[in-house]
Amino acid sequence: MNEYQDLIDLLNSKRFHAEFFEDASSAKKRVIELIADAASVGIGGSQTIMDTGLFDDIVSTGKTVYSAVLEQQKEKPDKMAAWKNAMSADVYLTSTNALTRGGDLINIDGNGNRVAAMFFGPDTVIVLCGVNKIAGSPHDAIDRIKKTACPQNARRLNLPTPCAVEGVCRDCSLPERMCNVTVRLQYPPRGKEIYILLVNEALGF
Ligand code: SF4
Repeated sequence: MNEYQDLIDLLNSKRFHAEFFEDASSAKKRVIELIADAASVGIGGSQTIMDTGLFDDIVSTGKTVYSAVLEQQKEKPDKMAAWKNAMSADVYLTSTNALTRGGDLINIDGNGNRVAAMFFGPDTVIVLCGVNKIAGSPHDAIDRIKKTACPQNARRLNLPTPCAVEGVCRDCSLPERMCNVTVRLQYPPRGKEIYILLVNEALGF
């Protein structure tokens, strides 16, 4: 039994479909299995999905992929269209900012598209999560996100926020603020199947 089995059992008791993987490679294979019958996949902004190569793997399947990353490669990008299309894809794939020991997914979003797709978008959602995202309480999770995820995300996106510039959250009110929507997903909403693939590696931030 792995040290995360209690968490996996708890998530399954909450009607999530939780599975544990020793490495990203085996989790990626499981994702490809889960999307086998999907014609379209929405992919949320996620360093985990990019770093593992899963993004490229899914694009190479030939399925229709809705993603702001792909949209940006077009001559006239329309990220809003990509975000809205992703809401009606067959499957939505993302990571999570944090997973609590109590089995809650905690996410902070600037536009809200990613969190909305997780709780009110496609009927099937797949969350790929490294064990580095595990936090104690929801409070700990938000603390972790503000201290660890936000500064790195802000720098990756070249934002002028205090977390990027100083490495500290100042609860800013800049137009570029990333922390506009905070969602605590405690149970899958009705009609939604949420797969949480927990990987015994540090993935994303
Ligand atoms: S509120 Fe502003 S400074 Fe704080 S983490 Fe969010 S974007 Fe960064």
